[in-house]
Amino acid sequence: MDFKQFITIVEDYPKEGIRFKDITTLMQNGEAYKKAIDEMVQFASQKKADVIVGPEARGFVVGCPMSYALEAGFVPVRKPGKLPREVISQGYGLEYGKDELTLHRDSIHKGQRVVIADDLLATGGTIEATIKLVEQLGGEVVGIAFMIELGYLNGRERLKGYDVFSLMTYN
Ligand code: 5GP
Repeated sequence: MDFKQFITIVEDYPKEGIRFKDITTLMQNGEAYKKAIDEMVQFASQKKADVIVGPEARGFVVGCPMSYALEAGFVPVRKPGKLPREVISQGYGLEYGKDELTLHRDSIHKGQRVVIADDLLATGGTIEATIKLVEQLGGEVVGIAFMIELGYLNGRERLKGYDVFSLMTYN
C-alpha cells in the first residue's frame, strides 16, 4: 500500500519553514491505519519484543495498537508531571524546542526486549532520550519503529547501532 497518499503535508506548522507531516488523515482511514500498524507489528514480532515503549502523544497512537496485536505490554513515555508514580527523567532537544521526558521507574525490567514506536523520526532527539530512559532501567532496545522518517534530518545517524524501521521516508 502507498501510505504516503494518506499523509497530509501542512506548510508552516507549527512554525514557519516546517512542513508538518499530519498522520491524522492516515488514521481516519481504517484500512490504511490497520495496514500501517500491521507492518510495524511484523517488525516488532521479528524482534521478539516483550514490550512496546511509546512517547506521548503520537507514540501512543502507534504503539498501543502494536502492543495489543503482539500481546506485548505497552509503556508510556511522558512529559514531566504526567505520570503519577516515581519516574526517571531525561532532557532532550527537539526539531523545534527543548523538553524533558519521563518514564515510571518500575515500568521496564532488566533484560526485557523493548521496541520503541513513534509516528515520526525527525532529528532523533525524542527517541535518543527514550533509549536512555529504557537502558537506564536495564531494558534492551531491540528495535525502533516509525511510520515516517525524515531522511534529510539524519535522525537515523543519531540512532546508529539500533535497528531502525520506517514505513515511509521523505527526502
Ligand atoms: P525528533 O525528536 O526526532 O526531532 O522529532 C520527532 C518528534 O516530534 C516525534 O515525537 C513527532 O511526533 C514530532 N514531530 C516532529 N515533526 C513532525 C511532523 O512533521 N509530523 C508529525 N506528525 N510529528 C512530528
